[in-house]
Amino acid sequence: MARIIARRIMEWFGERGRDLPWRRTSDAYAIWVSEIMLQQTQVKTVIPYWERWMAAFPTVEALAGAPEEAVLKAWEGLGYYSRARNLRKAARWICEERRGEFPRTRDEILELPGVGPYTAGAIASLAFGEAAAILDGNAIRVLSRLFLVEGDPKSAAVREELWKMSRKLVEAAGQHPTGAGKGRFKPAAAFNQGLMEIGALVCAPRAPRCPECPVKRQCGAYRARRVLEFPQAVPRAKARARLFIAYVIEGERGVLVRRRPEGEVNAGLWEFPNFEPVRGSSARRQAREWLGFDPGSGRVWMKLKHSITTSRITLKTYRGAVNGEAALAAGRLGSEWMPLAGIRGLPFTGAHAKIRERLLHG
Ligand code: SF4
Repeated sequence: MARIIARRIMEWFGERGRDLPWRRTSDAYAIWVSEIMLQQTQVKTVIPYWERWMAAFPTVEALAGAPEEAVLKAWEGLGYYSRARNLRKAARWICEERRGEFPRTRDEILELPGVGPYTAGAIASLAFGEAAAILDGNAIRVLSRLFLVEGDPKSAAVREELWKMSRKLVEAAGQHPTGAGKGRFKPAAAFNQGLMEIGALVCAPRAPRCPECPVKRQCGAYRARRVLEFPQAVPRAKARARLFIAYVIEGERGVLVRRRPEGEVNAGLWEFPNFEPVRGSSARRQAREWLGFDPGSGRVWMKLKHSITTSRITLKTYRGAVNGEAALAAGRLGSEWMPLAGIRGLPFTGAHAKIRERLLHG
């Protein structure tokens, strides 16, 4: 059964797999960058970022030698910036400890900062053809349905069961000398990409296209008409609503901005001064106390909504101008004055990049 499933997935991938830019190379560095970008981000968003990144930092040495700010700027808008910082850190480690040679096995790749078992398996199989298993959200959904895996995939026991299935299938794929994407890919690479691709294109969460699926005859959930019961994930707690207030404050020397300090989320990225008001007192009064001066305008200049894993955030932005004493108070916010032209090239957090764009372009 494992051999049949593996073969059918490889054949299907050879015919239907998308032609994505990082699939045209077996360069481990390029594949690594694509895998890190694809975490939490859709393929169509990643493509231009990956192309720009590979033009700016075409090799592991180029990335290792780049200033952190340039790396964060290239990542601006993709979110989860620790991914970019870890890429650069790992590139420096590869250059210092391995003279620039990219690690070649799953276990060695796993030592890189920011690389977990999924990414290590993906790079080892895609770049080097190792029969290393993968397990991302798409693979979890396909395997849970194929094998009727009961229980929450976030639990350690179910996760281990799914890893075992993935391992068994990729090893079975290695027993097929042919059928690996019309010879373009080694069997492990064709199988792993096929598994993820079926999850992305066919075995969709709410509307799977089972009649088009290459493994429908082997699929337990399809045969039992229980497809939408799998995977049996326990729903997440509801995200909490939070309000933040930001200020675009202009003075004689430009606009106030601050760099997020080490140890905070999005450390090293830039933003406009902002705070989260407490309930029970007016946001304006809190802003006055927090800023050390009256920011002036009481009208919201821009309102943004965005979500992160546990929160639904509303960001209200006010705009005002200050000079003299008030300008001096700005230093207390850990902020600095920056000419408008200077903020264009800085890496900002996602929401604050939108504020900057409106400020620069209206
Ligand atoms: Fe998913 Fe349907 Fe294929 Fe089963 S038959 S793997 S449920 S798309």
